[in-house]
Amino acid sequence: MAVMTFKELQDFIESQDALFRSLKSQSERERVFARTIKLGEEYGELCNEVLASVGDQRKDKLNGKTRDLEGEFADVVIVAFMLAKAMNIDIGTALAKKIKTIKEKHNKQL
Ligand SMILES: [Mg+2]
Repeated sequence: MAVMTFKELQDFIESQDALFRSLKSQSERERVFARTIKLGEEYGELCNEVLASVGDQRKDKLNGKTRDLEGEFADVVIVAFMLAKAMNIDIGTALAKKIKTIKEKHNKQL
């Protein structure tokens, strides 16, 4: 399986955003709320997978489902990017700024 580039991820987000806009008549406010709620849902699914993978999930919550830890990480990233898109956040710029800040912080501690 080929590794996806950041540009390919951004292109996918652009196409998904355009598709959802063509399928759903929502105000920008409704779109932001929907994606925020969806991110919470996906984060919950990721938490469930993490708990299951370390053997700490209750048996009644496992539901005999096939485990998909990687897929749930991907869902969280995709929905977070979709939410950023809905809020006109340039996620590439946001990540670059944050990584720079983190590096500077860590360099001060060394
Ligand atoms: Mg999911």
